[in-house]
Amino acid sequence: MGCPHSVPRPAEDRINDNPQDQRQERVTNDISDSHSGLSFNQVYRIEKTLGEGAFSVVKECSHRQTRKHVAVKVVTKAKLSREDDLALKDEISILKSLDHNNIIKLNDVFYEPSHYYLVTELMNGGELFDRIVAKAYYNEKEARDVCKILFEALNYCHQNGIAHRDLKPENLLLVSKSNDREIKIADFGFAKKAPTSECLLTQCGTPGYVAPEILYGVPYGTKADMWSLGVITYILLGGYPPFIEQNQRELFKKIKKGQYEFHVEYWGDVSTDAKDLISSLLTTEPRRRLSAVEALNNPWINGSSELLEGKDLGANLAEFKKFNAKRKLKHAVLTLIATNKMTSLGYQFRSNLASSP
Ligand code: ADP
Ligand code: MG
Repeated sequence: MGCPHSVPRPAEDRINDNPQDQRQERVTNDISDSHSGLSFNQVYRIEKTLGEGAFSVVKECSHRQTRKHVAVKVVTKAKLSREDDLALKDEISILKSLDHNNIIKLNDVFYEPSHYYLVTELMNGGELFDRIVAKAYYNEKEARDVCKILFEALNYCHQNGIAHRDLKPENLLLVSKSNDREIKIADFGFAKKAPTSECLLTQCGTPGYVAPEILYGVPYGTKADMWSLGVITYILLGGYPPFIEQNQRELFKKIKKGQYEFHVEYWGDVSTDAKDLISSLLTTEPRRRLSAVEALNNPWINGSSELLEGKDLGANLAEFKKFNAKRKLKHAVLTLIATNKMTSLGYQFRSNLASSP
């Protein structure tokens, strides 16, 4: 379609006046997108469903012209509250401002009367945790490599004054089936600009991964993400989460107190440096909790690959498989019951919070 404001070129510029060739030229030079004046369905063909979040459906689509495959988050406008709509606008502007190898890229956005379409790069490799549990062998080096990538990506976000606010396994995706290192952080649905350490107030996130300061309802900043990475690092090494309670009220109580253990059965052979890293992340006082830069300087993160390869996590991998299966089931149920974004901490979240001292 070309630029709507383009002016006719002077005759001397017209190198080729053959209409057949001109058509060919348009096809190769102008790749249609949201600026072409075409609708989403005119530009892309929907192929299949990739995943379903609480607030959107993510579809694999192919570009009708280039055949390139992408992932598109399709958001039904009618389902969004005003607050959700603002959060989505934040997600779009934040994703547009970020450019890092380990953060999902937003290529285009279509704003249509009933839907928004967020066109992102396709992550063909599925969820990171699914890949790990499919392994036959697993050791500390592999866990360390993943953590290092996550700290680097988070460091980039935090240096740019962005808090993700919903770091959890479902939002860690892989580019391809063949490479374990191409991990990207996805789902910036809760992300927010956080220029100072205590500027955010919204109580959002996911119960097992949420930082204590968010539960306390005090102003917080990017350090809340470091807590979630502490939980993820714990799972990557132990195979199960640090805070598990059937009852959400009890779960919040434990998180607020920072009450967790390294059970000897699973942690006896894990490096002390790794446990120290987790302890410095699962520190209830945000000011004393490691920042992403500090985590990148941690001895375990910089440990010798040879040494870490010798630290087998095979026994914990069995636990990891069980945890992952439960997690997938729970995710499916939660997706069904969630009604809007800002109640994502769960049904009856506020009453559970009030009664968890
Ligand atoms: P929500 O905000 O609704 O949680 P997400 O962005 O987390 O939405 O997407 C929901 C799910 O869709 C993800 O957990 C993942 O399985 C899948 N998904 C999301 N983005 C992509 C992508 N770019 N490539 C492949 N799958 C994706
Ligand atoms: Mg998600």
